[in-house]
Amino acid sequence: MAKTGKAAVMTRAKEPLEIREYPLADVEKGWILVKIRCCAICGSDLHTWLGTRPSPTPIILGHEIMGEIVSMGAGVSRDSGGRPLGIGDRITWTIMDNCGKCYYCREKGLMMKCLDLKKYGHDSCAAPPHFVGGFAEYCYVMPGTCVIKIPDELSDEVAAPANCALATVVAGWDAARLQPGDNVLIQGAGTLGIYAAAMAKTLGCNKIIVTDVMDHRLEFIQRFGATDVVNVKGMKDEDLVNRIQGMTRGFGADVAMEVAGRPEVVAVGLKCLRKGGQYIEQGNVFPGAVFSYDASDIIFRWLTIKGIHNYDTKHLEWGVDFLQRYQHQFPFNEIVTHRFPLEHINEAMEVAHSGKAIRVAIKL
Ligand SMILES: [Zn+2]
Ligand SMILES: [Zn+2]
Repeated sequence: MAKTGKAAVMTRAKEPLEIREYPLADVEKGWILVKIRCCAICGSDLHTWLGTRPSPTPIILGHEIMGEIVSMGAGVSRDSGGRPLGIGDRITWTIMDNCGKCYYCREKGLMMKCLDLKKYGHDSCAAPPHFVGGFAEYCYVMPGTCVIKIPDELSDEVAAPANCALATVVAGWDAARLQPGDNVLIQGAGTLGIYAAAMAKTLGCNKIIVTDVMDHRLEFIQRFGATDVVNVKGMKDEDLVNRIQGMTRGFGADVAMEVAGRPEVVAVGLKCLRKGGQYIEQGNVFPGAVFSYDASDIIFRWLTIKGIHNYDTKHLEWGVDFLQRYQHQFPFNEIVTHRFPLEHINEAMEVAHSGKAIRVAIKL
């Protein structure tokens, strides 16, 4: 086995990531050492890099990771779904490493809010075993992490965004208890919007309306089940509300999901709901994302707002199953539009930030 591995390390926000070499440690009980094959760049990696959300440093960013098992510590024999694990198997895993026994893990069913939570690509890499993020050659998967073996039919690039973008969307629709026949509004046609549209389609939703400000994204998402798309650049709120009502017999959307990551779209999203409608807020994952709204409208129209941050293990399981079941119906293999080697990480981050890509992947 190699003695060291490379990683792209952020020492300070807004500055280029630097390639460093760290020593590899032997796996301990319950650990898995993974050779990373692919890591996609998530919007929250960009927020951290741009300094719009706080982060410890030095840090190895990247959490939409997948890779193959290089070594397994004592006690590791199966994944979280009961499938046998062996050296060379490709796996994905939950973004969080949680304790499983605290107030949130055990009593409230919110493992993603564990009191002793660690998250891949979110914690300092200063101390051994260093490799706890995705922009690197290796990653140590710790015992509090739920691991899922990737089916042979799924490519590395199709599997990589499963453990953040896809699983988060699955958690969002699960929280909304989406019904067949629902009319849904998805604000944002990026990777989360794409998965949200495709999953809404498979759940039997009626209108799947998507808004964005980039035509190339709105065009692309129509291949993932979107029935109607609206470019909202410069559009007045009332005009969008009228458009949505026109598509829904005058009532408005049953459920709206915000995955644009823009606080200014929340108010119009709420206005587009029917009475009794639900708003799933997922995109504004940085502090200071303030919006203002007339509280009486929430009361008079019986609106519900749910915040969904990360997900539960079952959502990742369902997400991987979903990819396997529907990868021939929807072109998930085209979501990664740009690929870079680890050494070109800074160029990759710039392309991801430009908005011209759907998903950018680091391939190892
Ligand atoms: Zn993410
Ligand atoms: Zn816990």
